[in-house]
Amino acid sequence: MEQIETLIIGSGPAGYTAAIYAARADLKPVLYTGLEPGGQLTTTTEVENFPGYPDGVDGPSMMLELQKQAERFGTDVRIGHVTDVLFSKEKGGQHNITCEDGKKIQTKTIIISTGASAKYLGIPSEKRLIGGGVSACAVCDGFFYKDQEVVVVGGGDTAAEEATYLSKICKNVTILVRRDIMRASMAMQHRVNKASNISVLYNTEVDEVIGEKIVEGVRIKNNKTGEKKEIKISGLFIAIGHSPNTKLFEGQLEMDKDGYLITKGKSTKTNLPGVFASGDVQDREYRQAVTAAGTGCMAALDAERYLQSLDDES
Ligand code: NDP
Repeated sequence: MEQIETLIIGSGPAGYTAAIYAARADLKPVLYTGLEPGGQLTTTTEVENFPGYPDGVDGPSMMLELQKQAERFGTDVRIGHVTDVLFSKEKGGQHNITCEDGKKIQTKTIIISTGASAKYLGIPSEKRLIGGGVSACAVCDGFFYKDQEVVVVGGGDTAAEEATYLSKICKNVTILVRRDIMRASMAMQHRVNKASNISVLYNTEVDEVIGEKIVEGVRIKNNKTGEKKEIKISGLFIAIGHSPNTKLFEGQLEMDKDGYLITKGKSTKTNLPGVFASGDVQDREYRQAVTAAGTGCMAALDAERYLQSLDDES
């Protein structure tokens, strides 16, 4: 059984920022990267809105820089994921953690920064064709559809960003938006409008993905008129938002109806002593790299103060 002071789960901007602060406070943090090292930003192209990068930075490079910064102060970054947690309900109690390699860890503080994962539509034909033309990551898979026809589903910033990225590779991109407006920011909508090979169909949803082993087309439905039609495509990109990665904590930590962890007031404290949450896993509102990093910093400060209060009491 390994005994540590602070465990961080997750390696997005929240996890790494928590690690930088915890390491500099000499909490000797161990960070488990999770299944997607670097988190969601590793699937994005250019990040233009993170302060301090006047010319923008690509997501994977930014995450490598954050990892280096966390390691520079002594964070023990481990590639792997946590498979089981048993939290203590007592102040000062040890939280018991099991990792994928069977390793067991006891820690007095734990910072959960497990982020969120892409949502899918949930129709059987979509599920069957994931990996066969259905994707939730244009940066990862766009290359396979060079000079081909593709569809992007969703009306938010992710959909706009994915469509813009794909428009540079693919022949034509059609965005399906279920309402009569896009939720995406005006800046992102301008990019969409500027691309000559992107068209947007409003009030339109996916009725069925066509193809046995690979995507051959999609049947779309106008949700105002009920009219259906088929379009031939080879790639279907789903960009309809994310859900928080909190399954591991069900039954132990308080969550809202969609599974986001609930934190107390302006802090990162969960309902259990010594357990803190930062980043998208507890934020359904802002979900930005910079806000995730901010709450990562807060979680490390909350953990440090919690450990200090235990010392003061002993
Ligand atoms: P959002 O929740 O903002 O948008 C989801 C979109 O998908 C909405 O248009 C929604 O429609 C639509 N949708 C949801 N479910 C379905 C469904 N079942 N069928 C069809 N459409 C559906 O998620 P995003 O991932 O786009 O963005 C998340 C956050 O990340 C936002 O805060 C965004 O600003 C940010 N972001 C910022 C970027 C940047 O600045 N570079 C890039 C990417 C994301 P409806 O509007 O009707 O609910």
